[in-house]
Amino acid sequence: MCQVLDEFIIYNCFIIRVKQLIKDRVKLKMNFEPVNTKKRYYDFNTYLRTVFGCRVQKITLDAGLSCPNRDGKISRKGCIYCNARGSGTGAYAKGLSITKQMVDGKKRLSRRYKARKFLAYFQSFTNTYAPVDKLKGLYEEALAIDDVVGLSIGTRPDCVDEPILNLLQEYAKYYHVWIEYGLQSIHDATLALINRGHDFQCFQKAVDATKNRGIKICAHVILGLPDEKRSHMLETAKAVAKMEIDGIKIHLLYVVKGTELEKLYRQGRYKCLEQEEYVDLVCDFLELIPQDMVIQRLTGDPHPKELVAPEWSLQKSETLTLIKNTLERRDSWQGMKVKLEIRNL
Ligand code: SF4
Repeated sequence: MCQVLDEFIIYNCFIIRVKQLIKDRVKLKMNFEPVNTKKRYYDFNTYLRTVFGCRVQKITLDAGLSCPNRDGKISRKGCIYCNARGSGTGAYAKGLSITKQMVDGKKRLSRRYKARKFLAYFQSFTNTYAPVDKLKGLYEEALAIDDVVGLSIGTRPDCVDEPILNLLQEYAKYYHVWIEYGLQSIHDATLALINRGHDFQCFQKAVDATKNRGIKICAHVILGLPDEKRSHMLETAKAVAKMEIDGIKIHLLYVVKGTELEKLYRQGRYKCLEQEEYVDLVCDFLELIPQDMVIQRLTGDPHPKELVAPEWSLQKSETLTLIKNTLERRDSWQGMKVKLEIRNL
């Protein structure tokens, strides 16, 4: 009798365990399927279309602001890959107001993409590096334009404080607001080498100060930084995956004229990534970050007249196609290697 009872208990435990395993597998499968079967990653256009129900485009703005890593507050040299334009359009230097840049951008992007709504993207230099009243004037000039549904503010993690975050938090009650923090790498030795002027902890503090305010956070990272191996870059992916970040821009490090990086490159002390290497790294990176992290960019966009190397970086659509093909060949997708416990998916 006792043996029968034991066998009955063992059998039931086995059945319960099998049921649990099946449940876990289903849960795992549900969380690990491609988010977008066409692209295999959660691209920004899809995200914006889901939120707004139409094509939304960012209008790139140059507000004539500076950067503490250029004006002497931190350094006068800037990041080693940044030239005097500070990734800017140069529109401010041409005397174009924010309103004029917005109106021109709207016309251009409505024609080209049939966009119906717009985000004002303050891109050039550091767009929180000014007194809060001045920033308020600039942001509100952009928000006053018809069909503008929000802001995207590109900045450094050491250039936000409570009044600025309070201002953005207020906008976030009525608009779609992103803040884009340049991280580039989680490795302090790399950040020192590229003269970022801040460390990883500074980025973590900025993210902590920004979260729970309704402001969406986007991190910029760069692949191919000097002295970084594949393992360094994937450590950055894993660290970012664990943080409360809503979006990411993955850039290729390319060499532009008039930068410290150009000197290193010409001296043979910096070697650019090959296209194939970059594509593989991007796919590895995507596999490690959560599926709900919006991918705002997958490569760089060099100015052809300013580019020194690598030449292949001008072939943006070819690189994007190679990324898509590589994910398909691997049969992998964004988040494929994220463990469930990383973000409690
Ligand atoms: S923080 Fe941005 S604008 Fe400033 S030096 Fe670096 S790349 Fe250039």
